[in-house]
Formats: sequence, structure tokens, C-alpha cells
Amino acid sequence: MIIVLEPTASDDQVKDVVKRVSDAGFGTRQIVGEGQSILGVLGTPLPDVLYETLGLLPGVQQVIRVSKRYKLVSRDFHPSNTIVDVDGVKVGGSEVVIIAGPCSVETEDQILRTAHAIKESGATMLRGGAFKPRTSPYEFRGLGEKGLQMLAKAREETGLKIVTELLNPTDIDLVSSYTDVLQIGARNMQNYQLLEVAGQSNKPVLLKRGMSAQIEEWLLAAEYVMAQGNEQVILCERGIRTYETITRNTLDLSAVPVVKRLSHLPIIVDPSHGTGKWYLVPSMMLAAVAGGADGLIVEVHPNPDTALSDGGQSLTFENFAASIPGVRSVAQAVGRTVREGVGAAVAAD
Ligand code: PEP
Ligand code: MN
Repeated sequence: MIIVLEPTASDDQVKDVVKRVSDAGFGTRQIVGEGQSILGVLGTPLPDVLYETLGLLPGVQQVIRVSKRYKLVSRDFHPSNTIVDVDGVKVGGSEVVIIAGPCSVETEDQILRTAHAIKESGATMLRGGAFKPRTSPYEFRGLGEKGLQMLAKAREETGLKIVTELLNPTDIDLVSSYTDVLQIGARNMQNYQLLEVAGQSNKPVLLKRGMSAQIEEWLLAAEYVMAQGNEQVILCERGIRTYETITRNTLDLSAVPVVKRLSHLPIIVDPSHGTGKWYLVPSMMLAAVAGGADGLIVEVHPNPDTALSDGGQSLTFENFAASIPGVRSVAQAVGRTVREGVGAAVAAD
């Protein structure tokens, strides 16, 4: 339920509305908009009598039923786009943000060279897994804290913001102490304890779509994070499993405008996991931006042939650099710009 307040509603009137809702056993979130504020009512099922009483209170313009199971994530509750601020790099505004880096952090030399190369080409954030969820237990599972230290060193040298995966709720403090963004991987999209600890942290969360998740399930996963008080959620489409085998996953680019319609949260696209083939990545980067994505997250490796994970879908420095001018042109064609540099924003949001 959404309570639309009169633009002239006084603080006391708003307090009274909040109290009535809380006396009925439900929570509220106030969303202050330009000229008009709304109160979102959290909880279910809401008794009919509540709709009627609240609609009669002074300061209330209208009470609207929201049938969606996700509330905080929905555009009904929060009509304007959310802009997630990653320590000065804004995701969800007019600028398209590029995140790049290896699948896994392997060596200091690997991550530092990659960081410098992607920065040179126009990326503003560095990705790299230190804790890796691997389908087989015998594959490289990441360097753990050593990998996080290498990422921090790369940030120190380049100013790039760091994105790395949180695999286990017990690592939340450790990973948060190094990273700028907590990535929740596809395999953990429905790990509700992990979502809740990420929701209790003060770091932005990059929530990947589960490989068999419907969009509604994905938005409900984001609701878990937001329900804990963390509103800084970035969704990431990374492909879903279908009957197709030539590509690793089927990159569902229609999810971008669907999510934009249903939610106020920013959405970025991962064409690397989305296709599994490096030579398909550049065209999907263009398509994602054309379709309205707020950013890209792309795997880049100094030497994909020897990568310890996901080499086949990783771009070389040269191929990554070559793909960026096209991304800029497409961004411009859809009325956006690509974020330049890691310092202060160049364009107003
Ligand atoms: C990754 O980003 O390297 C990763 C493991 O991605 P996903 O969770 O989308 O498979
Ligand atoms: Mn990977």
C-alpha cells in the first residue's frame, strides 16, 4: 500500500499517519519526492479497514493498493530512479558506468596491469573475485584475503572502485573492509542469509540474476537486501540458462527495460557470463547500452589463454580498448554519456 501525502501535509499529520500504520502492526518507509512525499506501507496482508481509515486522515491525498510482492524495490513505491553512489561514481544516472577486470584475482601483477589497462580505456571500477564460487570443487577458488589486498592495492594505484564477490555471510566484515561494492553472485541470488547480511552493511550491493531466476524472484531477492535498510542495490543481468548450448547462457537483454519499468533500481549487464564467448562480448556491450543498461561489467584478462577462470569469455586489453568507442557512440545515440574518469562526475545527473 502507498499513502500519497498532500503536498501541504504537516509533520504532525505525517506522524499521525505513521502511528496509525504502526499501531496496526505494519512498518512504513517515507519517500520524499519533489513537491510530494509518499509513505510506503510494508507488510502483508493489509486489512481492508486500514485502506479506508487512512484515506480519511488529514494530510493524506490518496491510498493506493500495491499488489506486487516486492515493495521497496518497486517503482510504485519510489517513482524516480535510484542513483547508487559508489564513493563518487554514480550508477543509475545519465552516465553509463563501465566495470572491468578478470574473473578471478590471480597475482598482483595480473590485477595491477589489468587495473591500469582498463582505466586507460575508460573503466571506472575494477572487478575481480577473491572468493570464487566454482561449479567444481577442484577448480581455482580464489586467493581469499590475499586477493582482496591486491584489489586494494590496485585501487590505491589507480583510484578505480572495487567490485568483488561476497560468498559467505561470515566474511561480510572482511570483504567490506576492502571493497567498494559487494557482489552477490548468480549462484547465491537466493541465499537469503547472505542477502540479509549484505542488506545490513553500508556498502552498495551488485545483485546478479540467478541463472534460473525469473525477474520477479530476482526483484524479491533485491527486496531482501532493501528490507534490511540498504537501499544501494544495483541489479545485474548476466544471462539465464536455456536449452541453447552455443552460448554459455542466454543474455536476457529484455530484462533491462522490464526492470526499468518495474523498479527504480539501476541495472547493469554482464555480457561475459551472458555469452561465455569473448568474441560475442563487444556486440552485447553495445546492445546492452542501446537497451538502456546503466552500466556494463566485463571480464578482461592480460592473457585469457592462461586465466585460472573464465578465460574463454575474457577480453584482452586490446579487444576491450577497441570495444569502448562504439559503446560511447551508442550511449550518445540513446541520450547518455559514458562516465569518464574516477574523479568527480563530469555530467550532472
Ligand atoms: C563472476 O562475476 O565471476 C561470477 C561468478 O558471476 P556469476 O555469479 O554471474 O556467475
Ligand atoms: Mn567469471
